[in-house]
Amino acid sequence: MYLEFTLMPTYQYICNECEHAFEAVQAFSDEPLTTCPECGKSIRKIYSNVGIVFKGSGFYKTDSQKTTNPAPTSAQQVLRQRQLNLSN
Ligand SMILES: [Zn+2]
Repeated sequence: MYLEFTLMPTYQYICNECEHAFEAVQAFSDEPLTTCPECGKSIRKIYSNVGIVFKGSGFYKTDSQKTTNPAPTSAQQVLRQRQLNLSN
């Protein structure tokens, strides 16, 4: 099955000098930003988030909530079904 997805890390920075806050979408390989675009002084990273964008049929973007329903042990069910088929 073909599945393509793109990782898009988003970093939030805030300036130590003028408290200008902004987001920057950077690749993992990019150097982290260190200077404020407003005043050129040092900034600090306050938050980072990785959004995953799926490209493909049958996929849709979900939020961070995950269903915690315990999955049935489908392997055992398959084995039982096979034994039933063999006994016929
Ligand atoms: Zn600044």
